[in-house]
Amino acid sequence: GKRTSGSFDLYVFATSWQPEFCHSQSFPGCKEPNSYWSETLTMHGLWPQYTNGTWPSDCTSEHFDEAATDAVGMDTMNKVWPNVKQDPSDKDYDQFWTHEWTKHGTCSGISQKDYFQYAVDHFVEAPAMLKEAVGKTVDRDALIKAYGTVVAPICQGGKWLSEVLICKDKKTLENVDCVASVVKEGNCGASISVRAFE
Ligand code: 5GP
Ligand code: 5GP
Repeated sequence: GKRTSGSFDLYVFATSWQPEFCHSQSFPGCKEPNSYWSETLTMHGLWPQYTNGTWPSDCTSEHFDEAATDAVGMDTMNKVWPNVKQDPSDKDYDQFWTHEWTKHGTCSGISQKDYFQYAVDHFVEAPAMLKEAVGKTVDRDALIKAYGTVVAPICQGGKWLSEVLICKDKKTLENVDCVASVVKEGNCGASISVRAFE
């Protein structure tokens, strides 16, 4: 059901490894990927979270307003928060941002402009060791350590890097350690395989 917007405990800053998201897919954006997407994980969403491990969703009926992402700037949005399922010239290129705003952003209690701007302003690049591991493997614990706070890697098929969840203070958006009971540990083994674009 609907929850009260703005009442939550922390943010989960979800980032997505595009070479994995693109794996075996013929999405338009996967054909000529931005080189940045093979250096770092990109934005999936900024998700309000409760410390009991649950989260609110779809808190208000406020529709996505493209003025909010226009204010951030399309060059930045396309680079840092891409929707590879669409070609940037498609009229529904906004659909990933629409989904994230509707499901998660409406629970943040902040304006759409602030929601997208805060997410981009507090973007967390993956550590250099990830870039060096593309097409190879990376030690899970070393990767977590390199982020500087405890993050939660998520894997597909038990080993393929898919997402990294980063926990953030709800007020300052400073990184804080993710606690396993709050954010699910994502099915990665001790050695994580990092796909390259095909
Ligand atoms: P999956 O189960 O595929 O990992 O996640 C499906 C969707 O559930 C995500 O896209 C996200 O919207 C939501 N979700 C999964 N885990 C979390 C979480 O720890 N916190 C929040 N806020 N949403 C989550
Ligand atoms: P969630 O509900 O978990 O926030 O988001 C899940 C939805 O977002 C699914 O439709 C999933 O396919 C999509 N999604 C997750 N990661 C990405 C991504 O990196 N790019 C795009 N375009 N969609 C994504």
